Amino acid sequence: MADTSSRSRDLDKLLLRPGNLVGPRFEPGPELRDDLQAFAKVLVVGAGGLGCELLKDLALSGFKNLEVIDMDRIEVTNLNRQFLFRLEDVGKPKAEVAAKRVMERISGVQIVPHFCRIEDKEIEFYNDFSIIALGLDSIEARSYINTVACSFLEYDSDDNPREETIKPMVDGGTEGFKGHARVILPGITPCFECTIWLFPPQVKFPLCTLAETPRTSAHCIEYAHLIKWNEVHGGVAFDPDNPEHMKWVYDEGVVKNIIPAIASTNAIISAACVLETLKIASECSKTLSNYLTYNGSEGLHTEVAEFERDKECLVCGPGIRIELDTSITLQKFMDLLEEHPKLRLSKASITHQGKNLYMQAPPVLEEMTRSNLSLSLFNLMGKLPKDVVHVNGTTIKNDQKFSCLRKLRVVFKGVDGVTDMDTAGGA
Ligand SMILES: [Zn+2]
Repeated sequence: MADTSSRSRDLDKLLLRPGNLVGPRFEPGPELRDDLQAFAKVLVVGAGGLGCELLKDLALSGFKNLEVIDMDRIEVTNLNRQFLFRLEDVGKPKAEVAAKRVMERISGVQIVPHFCRIEDKEIEFYNDFSIIALGLDSIEARSYINTVACSFLEYDSDDNPREETIKPMVDGGTEGFKGHARVILPGITPCFECTIWLFPPQVKFPLCTLAETPRTSAHCIEYAHLIKWNEVHGGVAFDPDNPEHMKWVYDEGVVKNIIPAIASTNAIISAACVLETLKIASECSKTLSNYLTYNGSEGLHTEVAEFERDKECLVCGPGIRIELDTSITLQKFMDLLEEHPKLRLSKASITHQGKNLYMQAPPVLEEMTRSNLSLSLFNLMGKLPKDVVHVNGTTIKNDQKFSCLRKLRVVFKGVDGVTDMDTAGGA
């Protein structure tokens, strides 16, 4: 027990005393600390360099219910900085080993590992967490989690976000000596998609990604350059000025663009992210507003910038409004989504109030919902004059296909009268 109390000593300074920067619902005391430990459930996305740090920092900050999701297995090249892993762990799932190691070292913490792709989980899986902490190295994965978290957001009739539907995210990222930490409160602060312009097209890749799981064609080129070259041409040094050598590696643009991952950057960014997580969960202080950058390449420079929401954002906004005739069928509605210039949404799976109207997969669900395609959407939505539907599908941006989740506000033309009558009848 003595060990536990000394461990919460620093935390107690934040949670047991009042302060000038606390939130409106902050009530200092041991109950807050215990409730935080008992009820706050945090998901860590990614168990790589940053993910290992996040799990350790969260556990040491008193969070007791943690889960971690990662699709990768441990590689030898990870061991210099992904400090929860040992040589004998090579080949094992990162999420499982990371969870086990932190639980061994920090008593009382429960960590559930998930060794799978983030897309493999049902959307509802993500709704179960109080806060989602991101320790990822790809824009696509961030974008996906952001879309999922924003899909839980609901707006009231005045287009104000309903507070209980806000799923907070804390996003960390590192690249060499640089990093960022940001707080995303969907509907309040800009979501990842609102500020997608912050991310230039990715041209550098962590070395470990190349060796482990090359995911893109550019990864494969680097893999060819760094690893395959020696295997095939053993002894012949790769010469980027030799056209034949370059032809062998296929592309001229990516070679020489490797950046090292640096353990200290991960530690600093993780500390910033976990402090924000603690602030969101406890209201012991105002959260970062809303984007911190860190640069340790020459001296040390940090700065916080407040970015603004894109009110038109397709992901965190109230949703695109679509006016329809009551006679329109589900199939016709899906055709409209594909033609819609802002949406260009194909392969749509559609849900309304948690009910599947049409599902593309798995085959058994597709078969069960197929007969809905010829029915009127108005009837399928319970003859409501307007409501939100969620659509999961594929969209096209810059000639590239992305899986996406969209919230659409469907309004049926000419049925306002029905609402008025219903209201009058009920009054
Ligand atoms: Zn947004």
